[in-house]
Amino acid sequence: MHQKLSTYLKNKYGEKIYRLSLSSGCTCPNRDGSILMPDGTPLTGGCTFCSEGGSGDFAAQVTAGSIDQQIQDAKELISKKTDARHFIAYFQSFSNTYGDISRLKELYTKVINREDIVILSLGTRPDCIDDSVLAMLKELNQIKPVWIELGLQTINEESARRFHRGYELKVFEKAYKTLKEAGITVVVHVILGLPYETKEDMLKTVKYLATLDPALDGIKLQNLQILKGTAMYQDYLNWKERARSKQDTVVAGKNSEEFYFMDMEEYTDLVAECIALLPETTVIHRMTGDGPRKLLVEPLWTLDKKRVLNTLTRKCRDLLE
Ligand code: SF4
Repeated sequence: MHQKLSTYLKNKYGEKIYRLSLSSGCTCPNRDGSILMPDGTPLTGGCTFCSEGGSGDFAAQVTAGSIDQQIQDAKELISKKTDARHFIAYFQSFSNTYGDISRLKELYTKVINREDIVILSLGTRPDCIDDSVLAMLKELNQIKPVWIELGLQTINEESARRFHRGYELKVFEKAYKTLKEAGITVVVHVILGLPYETKEDMLKTVKYLATLDPALDGIKLQNLQILKGTAMYQDYLNWKERARSKQDTVVAGKNSEEFYFMDMEEYTDLVAECIALLPETTVIHRMTGDGPRKLLVEPLWTLDKKRVLNTLTRKCRDLLE
């Protein structure tokens, strides 16, 4: 059986561990023009699905202010629901290993040394793991576990170019190897339903991750979500316009066109298929998207989170604990 993140944490710490969404103040090289397209044009818009908040899986509740203040605010939000005592310090938005290394080291050292923090989790890009970052992560990992979340989304190079990921698969492979050799826990994000991707493409990505050596520690699966204000939202509007004027032929499930949104049954079946492919040691951190309600355009069934999670629980009954 695979473990859901909540089960893994409960087994390891003997209590429920909550995530505190925090901000490191970093930006992303895919947004500040540091990455060049093959024709030499700087990438400034980020991945086309990425919202203003710079979040790979859209769940951040970033607050401003000093880190202690952020932690206090985030704990207060959680304390309305629980009396949790220990937390994951979760820096999710943007690329949290991209910036002045001494500032980052000071910030993360302060956080990881707090009694109430049991894990430091940093979302970043594989091209933001250089030697100085690695040395910092190794040092922090001696204090408490450090998790690195990499937004791979797909192994299909063509898809990655389309959504402006800004790095090739070989960059991920190098970073993965280096991080694992350094003893860091690695979690990978995958988006199911990227433009033009077929079910076979999506399963290919998951099969690739399932055969990584050393084995992948954790995975976040989510469906593509179109959020207002993103570049992909404009692509989506253009696609709808073309579909209206019948320039595109919709072939459900085949993706001969740009967008195809799985319904809930189709998506949850696919998630179960993906989980079954992964080694049982890979912890399942996420199974669905969690876009901000006010920005979400498609697919709207994801707003009924309870129904989606109940369906996933039912379909993954024999796979997940
Ligand atoms: S790498 Fe992450 S933060 Fe940067 S543009 Fe892509 S999704 Fe957004």
